[in-house]
Amino acid sequence: MLAKYKLNEKLEFTVEGEGQKEIFKELASVQEIFGEEKCGLCSKSNIKFVVRNVEGNDFYEMRCTDCGGILSFGQHKKGGTLFPKRKDDNGEYLPNKGWHKWTKESSK
Ligand SMILES: [Zn+2]
Repeated sequence: MLAKYKLNEKLEFTVEGEGQKEIFKELASVQEIFGEEKCGLCSKSNIKFVVRNVEGNDFYEMRCTDCGGILSFGQHKKGGTLFPKRKDDNGEYLPNKGWHKWTKESSK
């Protein structure tokens, strides 16, 4: 089963799954990863996808071109999928839905 899903004005996805549950899962992950439409700091929608390579490791993030806000994505150990980092290392929700300004600390 194929499903076409128009996420926003810029992105359209075609997802494939065996049935309703798989399609549901695919759409959920599309929304979670690509559904961010505005910066959590300034609420503007000029955000872009950025991949930085640091010493052989890729870092995935969204950046706001207005205020320089960053939303970092973590990588699941299995499956090669991403997740937005909205919680800190203790499992507490971060302010601004995980959007933050670059600091020396966050570059690690
Ligand atoms: Zn911003």
